[in-house]
Amino acid sequence: MRIVLLGQPGSGKGTQAQRLAAAQGIPRLTTGEMLRVAVRDGAPLGKDAKRYMERGDLVPDQLIVALMQERMGTADCARGYILDGFPRTRVQAEALDAMLTTVGAALQHVLLLEVDEAEIRRRLSGRRECPKCGSTFHLTAQPPKVAGVCDRCQTALVQRPDDQEATIARRLAVYVRETKPLIGYYEARGLLRRVTAPGGPDEVFRAISSLITMGP
Ligand code: AMP
Repeated sequence: MRIVLLGQPGSGKGTQAQRLAAAQGIPRLTTGEMLRVAVRDGAPLGKDAKRYMERGDLVPDQLIVALMQERMGTADCARGYILDGFPRTRVQAEALDAMLTTVGAALQHVLLLEVDEAEIRRRLSGRRECPKCGSTFHLTAQPPKVAGVCDRCQTALVQRPDDQEATIARRLAVYVRETKPLIGYYEARGLLRRVTAPGGPDEVFRAISSLITMGP
């Protein structure tokens, strides 16, 4: 199964991608996390991407497309994947279409997670992340068992630099300009499913699971 998760930063894509990937037994390809690992490891991609990420801007399309082309070509992606944070521009969406056509595959669902803006800001400013395993938590909505420490690998949690107030505003503006138009792009292909569940992650996951089972 090949699924795209679409939605503003903080709409819950990462959490739902983790759950979906586990439930379907397929990998989640999270571009933001892949980029953060590249930055942390001092990889050439990380050196190029860092300044864009710190500002809250998108990393240039050609870097992202090359990254995803390589990742999607690996053996664990043969049965499908959950795309979390890609595509984020029309150029990326068209590149994804081309990649899928080349291997004779298709997307089954594009899930749009809809959350109102006040809630998005609350989520992003309280978000804490494990720099080692990528697990995410929230100071109040989803606190770790021990304050400030990852439940899975006991590493100290951090706030992402791009989750600071000023950068959040820029990321949301970039979403509206670059990524929101993909809603129409996928709607026109009959792939878009809106997930408006206002509840917590469990309720959203139940809504997603039933949408996926119902099929197109
Ligand atoms: P995220 O964790 O998905 O919010 O991504 C963090 C940052 O990584 C974004 O603000 C961008 O700078 C960069 N990024 C992640 N995915 C993409 C993408 N598909 N295209 C361009 N930049 C991306």
